[in-house]
Amino acid sequence: MKKTLIVGNWKMHLNTQQASLLVRRLGERVPQHRDIETVLAPSMLTLQPISLEVDRRKFRLAAQNANAQDLGALTGEVSFAMLSGLVHYGIIGHSERRKYFAETNKDVRAKVAAAVRNEITPIICVGETRVERTNHETKQVVREQVVTALRDLTGPEAAEVVIAYEPVWAIGAGRPASAAAITEVVAYIRLIIEGQFGKNVADAVRILYGGSVEPDFVANILSIDGVDGFLVGGASLNYQQFADIVTKAHQLAAAKEQHA
Ligand code: PEP
Repeated sequence: MKKTLIVGNWKMHLNTQQASLLVRRLGERVPQHRDIETVLAPSMLTLQPISLEVDRRKFRLAAQNANAQDLGALTGEVSFAMLSGLVHYGIIGHSERRKYFAETNKDVRAKVAAAVRNEITPIICVGETRVERTNHETKQVVREQVVTALRDLTGPEAAEVVIAYEPVWAIGAGRPASAAAITEVVAYIRLIIEGQFGKNVADAVRILYGGSVEPDFVANILSIDGVDGFLVGGASLNYQQFADIVTKAHQLAAAKEQHA
């Protein structure tokens, strides 16, 4: 059985002391669960100090971004090669990077390859904007994002990646996408991967939902077929909310295991 994967993306929030305090509070509140994998994505600045403080039995770390090249004259950048050994995961292609930093599907593809080359598991964000949804372009947009991102990978490499379906219109909206919308796109993503790499790879890939996830929505969304966890933004900065999300996910996983 796949573990439920819950990733907290802290974005450009929290200085070193604030990040350290949040890690301590989360450590007190989040119990160790063998059926849940909890991942924290602090800012690049705080990754290193947090890595020394975090309880590794409970948390893994993710980078929010990195450069596709391993090294070079690229002032201000940090590469996946430099992050190797420090983080398990790298968030790639978040809609904010696509929107504010003009990241294209080709850029995402290069970053995915760089992460894999450096033994970091990519968490690839895909999802349509409101306008694209209104124009019935969701499937076309998501297909292009997924196919391009995975193009350089072998089947076994693709099986290890994480895809986060984040409808852009649901991010920070206060309400997640409907179960029907999530169900349809998550199933479609598996179909795309099946076409690219076969059914075994499609089944193995972990698919997360992201967009306004809060504790109250956990049970509903995790009961959707094919959803393996969450990418959480705002609620991951609140230790009570994030710990509640993890705890609810654990209760659900434990109940499922009992009925299996
Ligand atoms: C996000 O930005 O990836 C996200 C899911 O944010 P929020 O949970 O705040 O909607």
